[in-house]
Amino acid sequence: MDLNNFIFYGQNTIVDSLECYRQAGKIASSIREMTKKKDYIGKTLGEICEETEKEIQIRGGFPAFPVNVSLNEIAAHYTAEPNDQKTVKDGDVLKIDIGVHIDGYIADTAATICYNNDYHSLVKASENALNEGLKIAKNKSKSSDIGKAIENSIIKSGFIPIKNLSGHSLERYTIHAGKSIPNINSIGSFLLEADQAYAIEPFVTLKNGIGIVHEGKIANIFAVISRKPTKNRELDNFLNEIWNRFKSLPFALRWLMDKYDEKNARILLDNLKKKKNIHAYPILVEGKDMMVAQSEHTIIPRETFTEVITS
Ligand code: MN
Ligand code: MN
Repeated sequence: MDLNNFIFYGQNTIVDSLECYRQAGKIASSIREMTKKKDYIGKTLGEICEETEKEIQIRGGFPAFPVNVSLNEIAAHYTAEPNDQKTVKDGDVLKIDIGVHIDGYIADTAATICYNNDYHSLVKASENALNEGLKIAKNKSKSSDIGKAIENSIIKSGFIPIKNLSGHSLERYTIHAGKSIPNINSIGSFLLEADQAYAIEPFVTLKNGIGIVHEGKIANIFAVISRKPTKNRELDNFLNEIWNRFKSLPFALRWLMDKYDEKNARILLDNLKKKKNIHAYPILVEGKDMMVAQSEHTIIPRETFTEVITS
């Protein structure tokens, strides 16, 4: 057994953790609503990420992952590259996915900002599907029933779900904690538990898409998956540095630019990837390059009702 793969944190009570979740949720939702009111046309993705992440800190939270700014056919996992000059254009559909944590307790929420009249109904379909999923999501409800409600709602709107993207359970300092909340009526199923956090996040595309995402070439989001020493002093120092800053949470290449130059950081990250100390998350692109919309909330089912902590 490799003990370096195990990560220990101090214990908190359920009451403490709920308060942290609520605080994180409040910050995440206020920032999501702020981004929806902005006019990002002409702004660079770099500016949008940096501004949004700064706002998380101003409001008393910590980014749980780099802000995702995925445009058009990119469904998820695009964050700005260092000095990213790509701009938002009139006609774009921009998914902003925001993660805020307080003491490791994460609120995960996303909205789609639509600068194209042809796709307002696509965005609306993802919002409606999320609402239908939320109606079902309770203590002891079946995950497949949530998927079924989401899928039915999307089909009824005249679109199709992305089948291989799903919501997920959340644990302290862990965003994808092992359980998946499907966006389709899937075979495997589990019962939601009280006082456990889950993200629900339908992704919707056009009928002439495949409804599946593939990995793209760009990967600017990374996370430490093992602290096992590498036998290389420079790599070990780099690994310790990123662990001390981000623990097991995802980080962006641009977050390292204060201390490393881009070329060197990429080489170090590449080597740590080869040694399986870190994981890189490539962008996820719709299989036929069709437009994608996403909506997301984090919930905590309680015994008798469900708290939508990012509402
Ligand atoms: Mn998210
Ligand atoms: Mn999520």
